[in-house]
Amino acid sequence: MGKAIVAPWYTPMKVRNPRTGKYDYELLQDSPEGIAQKAAEIRANQIGWNALGIENRVVVMQKWYEALQKHQPEIARNLSIDTARKRISKVETEGAMGLLQAWCFKAPKLLSPPEERQSMSANSVMIQQQWVPYGVVGVISPWNFPLLLALIDTVPALMAGCGVLLKPSEVTPRFMDGLEKSIEAVPELTNVLKLVRGGAEAGKSVVNNADAICFTGSVPTGKKIGAVCAERFIPAFLELGGKDPAIVMGDADIEGATDAVLRSAVGATGQACQSLERIYVASTIYEEFVEAITKKAAAVTLTTDPEKGQMGPLIFEGQAQKIQDQIDDALAKGAKVLCGGKVESINGGLWCAPTVLVNVDHSMSVMTEETFGPLIPIMSFSSVEEALKLANDSIYGLSASVFSKDNEMAIQLASQIDVGAVSINDGSLTNQVYDAEKNSFKESGINGSRMGDAGFLRFFRKKAMLIQTAHPQTMAGFEESTS
Ligand code: NAD
Repeated sequence: MGKAIVAPWYTPMKVRNPRTGKYDYELLQDSPEGIAQKAAEIRANQIGWNALGIENRVVVMQKWYEALQKHQPEIARNLSIDTARKRISKVETEGAMGLLQAWCFKAPKLLSPPEERQSMSANSVMIQQQWVPYGVVGVISPWNFPLLLALIDTVPALMAGCGVLLKPSEVTPRFMDGLEKSIEAVPELTNVLKLVRGGAEAGKSVVNNADAICFTGSVPTGKKIGAVCAERFIPAFLELGGKDPAIVMGDADIEGATDAVLRSAVGATGQACQSLERIYVASTIYEEFVEAITKKAAAVTLTTDPEKGQMGPLIFEGQAQKIQDQIDDALAKGAKVLCGGKVESINGGLWCAPTVLVNVDHSMSVMTEETFGPLIPIMSFSSVEEALKLANDSIYGLSASVFSKDNEMAIQLASQIDVGAVSINDGSLTNQVYDAEKNSFKESGINGSRMGDAGFLRFFRKKAMLIQTAHPQTMAGFEESTS
């Protein structure tokens, strides 16, 4: 007998350990047929899940919370291998569980369609509104916060009564084992929440089998997914990349601004969508700002010993190359490195120390393309108009920061930056504040806010029951008048 032919998608994917550079884990991928089967099962079970009602769904979700608590050490341990971040992995699991608790508390209050009411345009008609959740929501997530970004859409979608087909990133898949155990511990959930393992091909199958898509990832992938969703006529909630600017005004508190910019730019090794990636500083304080932030950036310690230090290695090899390319491009065009300045291999991991770059301009990719690494390119400006022009000179519109002692002026300036959220006198506040609604502008995303109440309400379609209380209109009413 000949050897069985194994379709490529069954081939295990080799997964790289970001700390050692070794490929020490195999990801068994779901096949397109398997994914279609999972979607069909979820679709069949979702009707019962929705019929349970929000109060009973909360009971199931609370059971999941308990199961997650039980498996938290395993999930956090695997996350810390996936991302080479110990402290952040613990914070991330706690954050994901906090999110679940928050929606258990909030969702029932939000899920109360208005009372039956009389139509204002047709007085004899009573209106009853129903909210109908999507059947199968496909959630596709990236590698930078693997658990949090997998659950950020999954939890409110489940709460709303949708079923969820969840495909996390193939770059950081180890945490899925513990997550899956927590789901299996809650039989009611197993029917409506299924994990999909694999890369782009698995993602495509999710898009082809879902009734709505929540995607977090890069702009190029988001555009591809958006196009398929448009073709399939299903909604795509796309949360994509950014190139967040900071404007530091001449009256800013330099100590506070440099602390915030540094933390936002290099925390999590700059691998966050809302990292500050380009800094515009008033010329009057430019020298002082650059000196202060360089001193602080140079003092950041690397976690080459996993038990010590502040900043981990780069998670994704492909990203490390992009970061080096941006540094090389900037240097070739006249930029100067004040600290850091290259991606280097240490014990097999790829590291980039916080890198302050000056003499930069918008001809350089470091000022225009998403970096997703710990680079801090700084330009000076001489007028508010110039600062605004530079900040808005971008295809991205995720978020931004403004630093000034004059809050009113800062807010006035912030309202002219073409982004979905602005942190005033801090950086990346959107990763701490979950209850402010915000859209992603320009190519950073499209469709409803994932934050605030809208993060839950976007999973419903509105349906109207129109109840006639009088005799229906007859054809007599259709008589044309000759006068
Ligand atoms: P990516 O676009 O490469 O991949 C994201 C996910 O999409 C992965 O699960 C991948 O397997 C899947 N995928 C790839 N091709 C696909 C296809 N054709 N169809 C369906 N699925 C497909 O992004 P990444 O490198 O994993 O993540 C980094 C990006 O994510 C950055 O651009 C970052 O800014 C962005 N991000 C955005 C937010 C936000 O909230 N706006 C948050 C975190 C990360």
